[in-house]
Amino acid sequence: MIKRIDHIAIVVEDIDTALGFWRDALGLELTHVEDVPQQQAAVAFLPTGQSEVELVKPTCETSGIARFLAKRGPGLHHICFEVDDIAQTMQLLRQRGVRMIDETPRIGTGGKQIAFVHPQSTHGVLVELYQLTEQEPENRLARQLSLADRVMHQGQVMRAAVLAFLNHLVSGDAPPAGSNGDQPK
Ligand code: ZN
Repeated sequence: MIKRIDHIAIVVEDIDTALGFWRDALGLELTHVEDVPQQQAAVAFLPTGQSEVELVKPTCETSGIARFLAKRGPGLHHICFEVDDIAQTMQLLRQRGVRMIDETPRIGTGGKQIAFVHPQSTHGVLVELYQLTEQEPENRLARQLSLADRVMHQGQVMRAAVLAFLNHLVSGDAPPAGSNGDQPK
């Protein structure tokens, strides 16, 4: 029933500072940082094979994650397991006397079906269960496309700037206003 660890979420005070360890010292690759309004957080994604480390920074002071950070400091927030049938897993856990936070699965970021197990039953670690849904691969693809689009756009802006600079070198014109430090006040 458990397929793998999908992700491990770590609450941080500052993503750039945390990347100093997780990316720069440990050597994990950072794919992107994303604003996740549903969680009122910014999340940095660092895949490790079949799983992912997520660095989560609260973006408002009243969210659950912000309260967690204020109370317990930075550190492990939850572990998420992918299961093949979330309803069945939840039923099985309840039969075994495990306390759930969510009584029924809910839809999380990107169309995921998720449910949380209460830390009282897990020896202090928040455990998330997750089942891949049909709409999730589509949502994920759409998100990747919009990210790729943004990167492409940034590339085009940069290329335009380089072209303008080269043109300027070739033609020997006066540089465009603002490019040689004469900032307008
Ligand atoms: Zn999670």
